[in-house]
Amino acid sequence: MSTENTDPTARPEVHADAHGLSVAATATLDWAVAQLGADPADTLTEAWEDPAYLLIAGSARAPSAIGLPSTGAWPSGYWILDRTSPAAFAADLADQARASGTETIWDEVSGPGFLDDPRRVSHLELGVPIELVTAFGSTDGTDDDEPDIVGRYRIRPGHYLVAETIGRAGTRVALHGFWAVPTEVTLEALADIEGFDAWTVEADCSTCHRSWSAFYGSDRFVPQPGVPALEWHYRDATGHEDNTVDCPAIRCSGRVAFTI
Ligand SMILES: [Zn+2]
Repeated sequence: MSTENTDPTARPEVHADAHGLSVAATATLDWAVAQLGADPADTLTEAWEDPAYLLIAGSARAPSAIGLPSTGAWPSGYWILDRTSPAAFAADLADQARASGTETIWDEVSGPGFLDDPRRVSHLELGVPIELVTAFGSTDGTDDDEPDIVGRYRIRPGHYLVAETIGRAGTRVALHGFWAVPTEVTLEALADIEGFDAWTVEADCSTCHRSWSAFYGSDRFVPQPGVPALEWHYRDATGHEDNTVDCPAIRCSGRVAFTI
C-alpha cells in the first residue's frame, strides 16, 4: 500500500514539515463521502463545471433576477443557473426544479483547526428528475433567440451533497463535487465521522508508545490521559521527514507520526 494519500477513500494524512501541521480539506471531504457511502454524482459535477451557460427549462421567473450576466435575450422557457458559488447554484436549482430544497449542513468559514482551507457542505434535494442544458448565448440580442445548446445532463431526483472549499480570505470558493446520498446527511452525521472535523491531531511514537494530542490548530501537544510524558510544541520539533519528527521524549530515539 502506498503511503501517499492518492486514494480518495483513505483517511486523510497529516502533513508535517518545517512549516507546521496541515490537513488537506479536500482529503477530509473525500474521506467523509466515502464513510457515508455516497456515490459521486459525476453528471451534476460535470454540468456545474461546464464553461457554457447552464440552463434549466421551465422557469417562470424573470431573467433579470439571476446572478450571472444576462442580456435578457434567453427564451422565456429557460433559466440561467447561478454558478457564482455551488451553494447559489444549489439554491437556484432547487428553486427552479420545484419540490426541492437546499440547506447548508457544515460551514466553517471562520473556524480554527489544522485544515489548509475551510469547508462548506450543503444538502440539495431534487424531488423530480431534471434536465440541464449547456448553451452559448445569442448574438443579436433579440428576445426570441434560442440558446445554442451544446450539452444535456439528465439528473435523477434524490439527495445530493455539495462539497466546497473556501479560501482563507473567504473570497475564493471552489466546488469539490456533488455526491448522491440515500438520505439527508445531518451535521451530526458529519461530526461523527472520525477525523472529519480535523480539530485534533494525535502524535504517536512507535518506539516508546507515548502519545500526545493538539487541539484546534494549536502546536502544543499535551500527553494523552495516563501517558507519562511532558507536553511539547511542534515548533520545537526536529528531524522532519516523511511527515514524521523526532520523538520529543528524553532518551527515545523513535519517530512521531501524526493522525487525525
Ligand atoms: Zn518515543
